[in-house]
Amino acid sequence: MRVRIHRGTREIGGTCVEIEQGKKRIVLDVGLPLDGEENAEALLPDVNGFRTPDDGLLGIVISHSHQDHYGLAKFIRPEVPVYVGAAAERILRAAAQFTPSGAEFRNFHHFRDGETFELGPFRLTPYLVDHSAYDAYGILVEAGGKRLFYSGDFRGHGRKSTLFDRMLRRPPAQVDVLLMEGSSIGRIPDGESFPTEAELESEFVGLMHETPGMVLTYASGQNIDRLVTLFRACKKTGRTLIIDLYTAEILRATGNDRIPQGWWDGVRVFLPFRQRLWVKRNKLFELISPYRENRIFPEALKAIAPEAAMLFRPSMTDDLTRAECLGGARVVWSMWEGYLEDDAAGQFLAWMKENGLPMSRIHTSGHASVSDLRRFAKAVAPKRMIPIHSFATDQYPELFENVDTKEDGEWWEA
Ligand SMILES: [Zn+2]
Ligand SMILES: [Zn+2]
Repeated sequence: MRVRIHRGTREIGGTCVEIEQGKKRIVLDVGLPLDGEENAEALLPDVNGFRTPDDGLLGIVISHSHQDHYGLAKFIRPEVPVYVGAAAERILRAAAQFTPSGAEFRNFHHFRDGETFELGPFRLTPYLVDHSAYDAYGILVEAGGKRLFYSGDFRGHGRKSTLFDRMLRRPPAQVDVLLMEGSSIGRIPDGESFPTEAELESEFVGLMHETPGMVLTYASGQNIDRLVTLFRACKKTGRTLIIDLYTAEILRATGNDRIPQGWWDGVRVFLPFRQRLWVKRNKLFELISPYRENRIFPEALKAIAPEAAMLFRPSMTDDLTRAECLGGARVVWSMWEGYLEDDAAGQFLAWMKENGLPMSRIHTSGHASVSDLRRFAKAVAPKRMIPIHSFATDQYPELFENVDTKEDGEWWEA
């Protein structure tokens, strides 16, 4: 088995790994680099079969629905089979209706946790993992007598931490090569841990008790763990959770009836002006129908504000200003802090200042702490560990055993 990491040996984002056995090949993830423009077709890695037909390419495997893992897949010939988790595929399809950063695959196949499937000479086994993206997987690849495990993105402190414990107890056996993500290396000292979602829940509860007006939480509509955290905090404080149509559709796409849905008691669905316009323009009234009874209109926001928490994003600021629902309100930044440095954040911060809104930060990482990475590496105990999805590749040898650092674009034997 030969392997070539096209992107990711020294960076987070843009992950793409090509694996060859005999004359057949598969590709794990086709991500957009973090600094890549969405329409940068030129960034698509040079893989035979991506742009022109090639029988050697059997398919691509998408580990999870984060752009840095699927974002360039739209530039691949649509005939190339895409293997992806069912919920992840539905989430990307739902998102594609609202934003160009979603993805709709034409020739897709769903895989399931723990169910091995074959692609030519390759045997692949997905391992469901705890991550900030819903339906995220690590992938075991077996071919030519070798076993390679690609960790994907994972953590041990989210709402599905039992998946991490399961991996520690029963890791993939006899792994020759482990490609392990290291997003948090260099961002958190070894030995320190990230807060759990349960801890965030208590923080939200505290803030919801203290805040006289609406609690406006800026979190990703695709961070399902965080939405569950928010909903639970709302339940505990008697607040109604208001989500927008996009988020309601993402929740529906999970296909999981234990996850809060737009038609549940205690949830209301709001359509910001842009979404209303978009629904009208595209005659997508069907989309609203599951939420008809729970829909809340702008003129009702002011009255419900003291008993509500809204999942929102900066594109909704005008809607809220117009609805005059900001008295006593508070903003919670529930995203990575780095986004606060963006130009777009500047405008948003100015809007908060104008409206006298205080801001709190409640967030935890989507990635394993260094200590959890060490526990994971120890459990898998690979013959060789190859760094991927990290800006701190150079630190791997101090932290893990049998590290073998590769460069982007080079072929090597597994
Ligand atoms: Zn991710
Ligand atoms: Zn990632």
